[in-house]
Amino acid sequence: MSTFKELGLNNEILKALNDLGYENPTPIQLKAIPQVLSSKSDLKAFAQTGTGKTAAFSLPIIEQINTESKDTQAIILSPTRELAIQIEKNISEFSKHTKGLKTLAVYGGANIDEQIRKLKKGVHIVVGTPGRTVDLINRKQLKLSNIQWLVLDEADEMLNMGFKDELDKILEVTPPNKQTLLFSATFPKEVESIAKNYMNKPVEISAGEKNKGSDRVSHQYYVVSERNRYAALKRIADVNPDIYSIIFCRTRRETQEIADKLIKDGYNADALHGDLSQAQRDAVMNKFRKKHLQILVATDVAARGLDVNDLTHVINHKLPDQIENYTHRSGRTGRAGREGISIAIVTSREKSKLHPIERKIGKKFVKTPIPTGKEICQNQLFKLIDKVHDIEVNETEINDFLPTIYEKLEGLNREELIKRFVSLEFNTFLSYYENAPDLNDSEQMRSDSRGKRRNDENMTRFFINIGRKDKLNPSRLIGLINEQEIGKNIEIGQIEILDTFSFFELDKNYENDTIDAFQNNQPEFSGRSVNVEITKKQRSGRGGSRDKSRGSRRKDKPSKNDFSGFGRKRSAKKGDFSKSRNSEPKRRRRS
Ligand code: AMP
Repeated sequence: MSTFKELGLNNEILKALNDLGYENPTPIQLKAIPQVLSSKSDLKAFAQTGTGKTAAFSLPIIEQINTESKDTQAIILSPTRELAIQIEKNISEFSKHTKGLKTLAVYGGANIDEQIRKLKKGVHIVVGTPGRTVDLINRKQLKLSNIQWLVLDEADEMLNMGFKDELDKILEVTPPNKQTLLFSATFPKEVESIAKNYMNKPVEISAGEKNKGSDRVSHQYYVVSERNRYAALKRIADVNPDIYSIIFCRTRRETQEIADKLIKDGYNADALHGDLSQAQRDAVMNKFRKKHLQILVATDVAARGLDVNDLTHVINHKLPDQIENYTHRSGRTGRAGREGISIAIVTSREKSKLHPIERKIGKKFVKTPIPTGKEICQNQLFKLIDKVHDIEVNETEINDFLPTIYEKLEGLNREELIKRFVSLEFNTFLSYYENAPDLNDSEQMRSDSRGKRRNDENMTRFFINIGRKDKLNPSRLIGLINEQEIGKNIEIGQIEILDTFSFFELDKNYENDTIDAFQNNQPEFSGRSVNVEITKKQRSGRGGSRDKSRGSRRKDKPSKNDFSGFGRKRSAKKGDFSKSRNSEPKRRRRS
């Protein structure tokens, strides 16, 4: 194998690579570096994310920059601010021993005057987002008339984001004899047409097969009904206590909604999407990189700029519209020699979308059952035991208290002590998943009757103030519910008719609509005005099982008194998820 030296890079660059711990060039670097150093031909490079493509295009450019001149000699376009910042950071590291070489990232959402000030001093390599680059060209602050290299990184995303006009404008002001380098992990036809329109007989190189997924990633799918998609997501997180994952969503709104739900349910999660300010995005990405955040819910575009190598899972909350994006998403795991799992949560109807992806990645999805409550409890329990085993004990601090502690625990033998300490942390998981329903959607389950839905965690239980004495029976109750015209084809779950009042379950998504409909219509039944309220099933250790009626229209929230640990939000330490939700699940609701 060639070394970086043999590829023809100078000593300053070699020293920087050595500082970074890069020992040998990656396959894409082996092909791209000598090509760009020795030829002015345009280059079309296929490379998966995480293969070292940033160094592949920037090292030969750094090598050839004329630092005697103040001209901008290279422009690198990237679809997102994050990616632009990251590329510029990489280039600064690669050129830290290269005297006089100036680089700058220009992107929207940051002070343009500051960027102009730096440009005026002379910048050799500019890394920019298309929008801000055009803005600076229009203001005559960025001159690309002397550039020798134009790099289009993640061209597919630039097109997806609607930057076609910006690319045209930028291309217009660059000289015809420049060398264009197009690096991308995927090549849908839109990118091919960019290559056709903007490049001159490009040389094609590839590290690995086009659009093929990484060998280190296994692909799994879970089949759920639409209403159980979120519950399945939580189970996947729960069964993997050490999960470090990106959950991909299709829209900014969906991303924010899922992140909000996860945060509310006590997970160590946050959202990353284009509606956030630059500062918010930076903060979220920093937290995630430092592993202060365990789950990142992101859009495809926003996650592009994230350089994280050790994700355990990539989860497709919904499959992307474009197959290429699946390759991109799953390529975020299984990097840097590690194994990774890419999970697709699909409904029965969406299952057919898996076949074209399988063809593209050259691998089969493995159907995987959604973890049962028991499996989750087992994994969480063993994780807890490992934690107890590995915990560092602060002898000096704890010694003073030990005599009193021993006194208080006198009379409990080893087995009892272990059981109690474990239960202290673990009871909430056990109670949350006790009687948890099977979420797997199968033909058989879908044809099941209402009865099977009783345990569905997506049902809301309502109290109604009429009962047997009012001549109410299940079919009359269903008739009464239908008369309120709450929505079309709403699932009705368990019905319990008692003497003077009754209970029924309805799809949770129609919780507010149901209350509103009964309030607005003010129906009467057997001469009594009907009143409907949301009920909350309470099964705390204190009171046993009982139904408590609530008039509130808010969704269930764990009450302050629900659990001694609730509300104590602890901060996580670097690289330590143990203080996140897994040690202290906040979800008190049972399914
Ligand atoms: P990229 O595909 O450019 O985003 O790079 C992915 C990751 O691989 C980054 O963390 C780089 O720092 C790292 N990397 C790139 N080239 C090498 C190399 N030759 N040796 C070791 N790590 C590398």
